[in-house]
Amino acid sequence: MPEIRDCIVLHGPELTPLRCARFAWQQDTITAMELGAPCTRLDSGGLVIMPGLTNAHTHMGDSALPDGATGLTLEQGFFRPAGYKYRELAKLTEETHLPHLVAHLRYMARTGTVRHLDFREQGPYGATLLRKAAHATGVDSVILGQFNGVPFTEAELRANQIGFRAADRAELEALLAVADGFSESTMNDLTDAAWRELRAITTAQGKLRAIHCLENAGYRDVSLATTGRGDLIRAIELYDPHIIVHLTVADAAEISLLVRSGKTGVLNPRANANLGLPLPPIAALMSAGANLLLGTDNGMLNSPSMLAELDFTYKVAKSQFGDSLAPEPGAILKMATSNIHAVLGGDNYGYLSAGLPADFVVLDFNQPHLRATRNLTASVVTRVTPEDVLATFRQGRELWRDPRFVTAL
Ligand SMILES: [Zn+2]
Repeated sequence: MPEIRDCIVLHGPELTPLRCARFAWQQDTITAMELGAPCTRLDSGGLVIMPGLTNAHTHMGDSALPDGATGLTLEQGFFRPAGYKYRELAKLTEETHLPHLVAHLRYMARTGTVRHLDFREQGPYGATLLRKAAHATGVDSVILGQFNGVPFTEAELRANQIGFRAADRAELEALLAVADGFSESTMNDLTDAAWRELRAITTAQGKLRAIHCLENAGYRDVSLATTGRGDLIRAIELYDPHIIVHLTVADAAEISLLVRSGKTGVLNPRANANLGLPLPPIAALMSAGANLLLGTDNGMLNSPSMLAELDFTYKVAKSQFGDSLAPEPGAILKMATSNIHAVLGGDNYGYLSAGLPADFVVLDFNQPHLRATRNLTASVVTRVTPEDVLATFRQGRELWRDPRFVTAL
């Protein structure tokens, strides 16, 4: 039975750092954790085991175009039909595209991520391509597919009367045969009738629903002009999504609406900043009690490293809270770990306990910048770099291991 001795484990949904004499797993399950005293500081280093991270919002399709959106607005870079992303994706063959996906999923594993929720473009073909990359790497790709093209004309969207046609339903059926759920760029890309139908179809099939809302004021403004209501309230009432991504410009009423709905918000502060958008109201959302996750968003905008996202988010949140006390670093780390369970349920715990899936990451706290930490959780959130990740396991399968890490495996 593989095991790691004399380590520190971030234990349970609260991620409490505890001494651990022996951490063992067999096949896909953690079989033993011999836990000891709390351990928030180190004097001479050690191994730290944390839950495998969840990146709750990616578009790994455009990881083939790193920094390709530099100098482009959100609309120029990312909106259908003519945005740079969609034009460039259409030029790629499977042979040229798949290696980029595989390489970036491997980079995720190398930076401690075991699972990502991907808003995959290109219809059924795009979902199938990512599924192949997930199989090749062992990273869990939760695939939320979208239509290859916008099913409606501008005039049809403005009139907001008609629903899907037979061809749209056929594409949706083919998409959901491969994907774990549905996502769309904005509420303004489909009609109200189409959103209602999507909700019914995905509910009947037990699929996930996701949407971008309030990434900039345009999302709300276009929705108001077309339907008389903002995009967040329409999303919640018509489509009932499991996750709502961005909320960058959410105002107090919208934050309150999100919390009352019980929906999970996914924040992407590095992507928002990179597009020159406002930073999401992290402190206000946390204070209101929202369940929050983090994502790195487009491969074009960011490396898919949750270590970088955690660091940035923690510091932005502290600045927004306006004092040096809030938030606890553990509250930020939960956004990449245990907060996922409320969304995915099942075996997707996002935390470590005996009997749960062996989804974990081994961190090298013997490194000079970590070995004398005075707040272990803060150091995980702000100081761990990709080079400090010794190994990443999902369901007991080794997704990444540094050759330095030999131990008792
Ligand atoms: Zn996105």
